[in-house]
Formats: sequence, C-alpha cells, structure tokens
Amino acid sequence: MITKQKGTYDIYGDLAKKRAYVNEVLDALCEKYNYGYIETPVFEASELFHRGVGESTDMVQKETYDFIDRGDRSITLRPEGTAGVVRWFIENKLYGNLTDPVKVYYNMKMYRYERPQSGRNREFTQWGFECFGSDDVMSDAEVISLAYNAYRLLGLDNITIKINSLGDTESRNNYREALIKYFKPKIKDLCEDCQNRLEKNPLRILDCKVDAENEIIKNAPKTLDYLNEASLERFNKLKELLDLMDINYVVDTNLVRGLDYYNHVVFEVVLDDSYALGGGGRYNGLVETLGGPSVPGVGFAMGYDRTILAMEEHNVNIPINDSIDVYLLYVSETEKETAAYLTQDLRMNGFITETDMMGKSLKGQFKSVDRFNSKYLIVLNDEKLADNKITIKDNKTKEEEDININDLVDYLDMHM
Ligand code: AMP
Repeated sequence: MITKQKGTYDIYGDLAKKRAYVNEVLDALCEKYNYGYIETPVFEASELFHRGVGESTDMVQKETYDFIDRGDRSITLRPEGTAGVVRWFIENKLYGNLTDPVKVYYNMKMYRYERPQSGRNREFTQWGFECFGSDDVMSDAEVISLAYNAYRLLGLDNITIKINSLGDTESRNNYREALIKYFKPKIKDLCEDCQNRLEKNPLRILDCKVDAENEIIKNAPKTLDYLNEASLERFNKLKELLDLMDINYVVDTNLVRGLDYYNHVVFEVVLDDSYALGGGGRYNGLVETLGGPSVPGVGFAMGYDRTILAMEEHNVNIPINDSIDVYLLYVSETEKETAAYLTQDLRMNGFITETDMMGKSLKGQFKSVDRFNSKYLIVLNDEKLADNKITIKDNKTKEEEDININDLVDYLDMHM
C-alpha cells in the first residue's frame, strides 16, 4: 500500500468544510483592510530562501526541501511566504512611484523538513500578509491589528499578542555586541547549536528550543535596554496605538523570532501560553537583501493548521453544513429521466440536490435520504407526472403536498 508521506495529511470531509469557513472569514477581513490576494509559486530558486530567510537559520540549515531539477537548477520548496512575495515585489518593480503602501495577503502551503508532531507538519498552511513601502508606526499597528482581529473573528478571543522591539540597525548592533559579551564566558553550558550561533547571530540563542528554560538565556540582556532614543520612542508610540485599538498585548523582552530579517517590532500570537499560533514583524532590510532598493516592509504569518486545532480544542462553533436540501427518489426509467432534469434545474437554482446513482431499491433510496439528512424528499411517480404533479415531503415534519412540477423552485424558495 502506498501511504501518505510523514508530516503530510489529506484535507477532506469536515476538515475541508472547516477550512472553507476559515478562508471565508479571513478573505472578508482582508478585504476590509484593503489587502489584495497573492499566490507565489511552490518552488523558487534556492538562493531566494537561503538569502531571504538567512543562511544560518535552522530553517535553511535543517528544514528546507532542496533539490536539483532536471535542468540542473537548485530549487527549494517554499518554507515561508515572505521571501517569495518580496521576490514578486522586486521583479515587478512595484517600488517605483510608491505613493501608497503595497498590501497583499496569501494562503499557501509551506514545506519544512521538521520532526512531525501535533501542530507541526512537513506540509502545512500559512495565512499571512505583507505591507511594503511604509516605515510609519501606523503600519506596524495595522498589521498587528489585522492579525489580532483574525483570531478573534475565528472565535479565539483569549489570544495574547507578545511584542518586542529589536530597534533600528544601530540598536540591533549594540544589542548584538552585548549578547556576545554576555554569552561568551557561558557558551560551553549551552547546546551545540547555540555555540555556533554565538558569532553568526547571537540573537538566535534567545530563540533556542533546546535551552529555552536555561537560566543563562533567561537572564540575558534585554533588547529594550539597548534601543536608542528614536527606536524606544517608536516602540512607545506603537504601544500607545495598540492601547487605542484595544489590542491585548504584552511586552516580552525575550522575543526575537527565528528569522534574520527582522528589525523594530517583532510579535507573536499565543493562546493559553502554549505554542505560537503565528508571528510577524518589521523587515526593513529584506527587500534590499534580495536585490531591490531599500523599501520598508512589515508582515505576519498565521499557522493556519494550528489555528484550526486551537479552534477545535476550544470548542469554537464552526458552522458546518451537514445536510442537503432535496433528495429525488425514482423507480421507473421515465421517473429516472425526470430526476435527471430536475436535479439539474434544482442545483442551478441553488439547492443542494441528490438522487440515486447506485441502482438502489426505493427502500435503499429512503435510507440515503436519512444519511444525507435531506430537508425535503420527492418520490417521483409516473401517474402523477402524467398530470405534471409531484409530491414533495418535508422530512422533519413529515408533511407532504402535491404541487405542479413547474412550481417546485418557487415552492422551495418560499419554504427554505
Ligand atoms: P514562522 O514562519 O516559523 O514564523 O511560523 C509562523 C507560524 O506558522 C508559527 O507560529 C506556527 O503557528 C506555524 N508553523 C510553523 N512551522 C510549522 C509547521 N511545521 N507545521 C505547522 N505549523 C507551523
């Protein structure tokens, strides 16, 4: 038997319906914020992700799906959304004449070679968005508010947004120096990965999954103590705007986020203090790193699959339609022909319609009516059809009525 690959899963049945509902909510919300939809290719030049995400990150060193294609190109399956969107932004020269920010959102499959566990897969979905061209704190606030409202509209009211600031380049560099000085004498007590991180990107030590509870990491210098005046002022302004927007946030000075490209605000969405449901931040250097001009950007990515798991765990009511509108039953060949054109008519008029396609007996068809939880059923009958009549029965009240076949759509419109 050929089975699915480790860390992947099939989407069907109730899960497919739940996802359709979540998509609907998120699409409608993005529309209100005036974000347009974008989808980038599943595979891109490896260089894009290696450079964009950062050569020294865990994601690039251990998790990307890299391969050489038949034309000898080095290809990587998309592990995150931002780099591809930035590539699109640069390739289409959208940075020219930027009088308003360029705002896009996506809902895409991502691929990371991780150890699968609950809420962690090798193929998973992220819903996310990016805003290019504004370095105003107003765009930080907008992005955080969009993320916050998405979870709330999905019924996860108890989320908290953790925020922190890495500051501008000067602040980040000062902080980097301070971390190296602090960790150097203690580094032997941390994991091997952290030892490698010390010179390359000491900020990432704070993000270590292995040593997360280690006192050495907990007592490390805090970013906020190294922000220069302008960066601190900016962070305070952001908090003020978030207060005005009534957004539930806490400052978490250990939050740095795994990727290389962040500066100023970084944020993460958590529920009940468990794993992160999403994260984002400002990445003013990224467009330039990927070959474009210096254009500021800020964005966010939701762990879509985890968010649905959280909705299930918190018993959020996800509206799922588990019934159909009409089931047409028949026995004779002429009744079957009537069923054929009536299903066509009903479906095109908006009714969820079923009929038998298995050659079942009438008794078997009645069982299908119940299995499909049909609101109405129509037992087609040649004698009545000769007079253009059909009998329609309400499956709940069991009341039935003979009506003219040409009035069927009007009848259902009136009764449903
Ligand atoms: P990141 O791009 O790593 O910042 O991830 C953003 C969000 O995507 C995380 O907060 C998770 O909720 C989700 N996520 C990341 N990796 C995975 C994975 N392997 N499986 C499922 N969700 C993931």
